[in-house]
Amino acid sequence: MEEQLRTLAKMQSLDDEIGRYKVLQHELPKQLEEIIVSVEQATADLLACETIRAEIGKKQRSLEAEIKAHQEQSKKYATQLSEIKNNKEYKALNSEISYLKNKISEVESVLLELMDQDAEAKEKVAEAKVELEKAEKCKSDKEGDLRHQIETLDSKIETVRNKRNDLARTLPVAVVKHYGSMIKNKNNQAVAFTREGSCGACGFVMRQQTRIELQLKRKLIYCENCARILMNKIEEPEDEDM
Ligand SMILES: [Zn+2]
Repeated sequence: MEEQLRTLAKMQSLDDEIGRYKVLQHELPKQLEEIIVSVEQATADLLACETIRAEIGKKQRSLEAEIKAHQEQSKKYATQLSEIKNNKEYKALNSEISYLKNKISEVESVLLELMDQDAEAKEKVAEAKVELEKAEKCKSDKEGDLRHQIETLDSKIETVRNKRNDLARTLPVAVVKHYGSMIKNKNNQAVAFTREGSCGACGFVMRQQTRIELQLKRKLIYCENCARILMNKIEEPEDEDM
């Protein structure tokens, strides 16, 4: 009986291991996906920042061209001015020139604002580049390892499962059946170690009789509440109550 209990405890610890691999089977692809998505997101963010900056640059160039055109026009008028004899025309031309001057200074103040915007946009582009580099580094650091882990999980589970099945073959069929149904239906836990007079899995307080029978180790004892196989701790396997 002692041997059977030891075997069952070993089987449970192998099933715990399988359980951890199954959690990873669920978690690792999510981590991989997150890493890939964060690179895509950072790439899109950088592109958005660069687009904004390019638009500012375009506006700046068009305003600069506008200023240049106004200046040239103003120069032309200035030359014409010296040739004009008529007072009325002189006044008209002069007011054109001052209109252009005003226009130029208006555009220049818009340009100044754009310079500020451009400086801000430049900073944002730099920040977005840093974010993208970070995301790419994270991807290149972790992607290969994650993919490898994901690919090898199946075979790891298979190996542990085979070990467990080898152990199961040494037990009576009825015990294995009960063990299997507990693993399947009771949150991957078939064996419960006692904890201060209670079932370590469901917390059910054992009767005095059960405690004595557990000490005697003449037969397998099942929790009266959850039906898991009860045993007092051997060596020191960790039982986790989920
Ligand atoms: Zn129980």
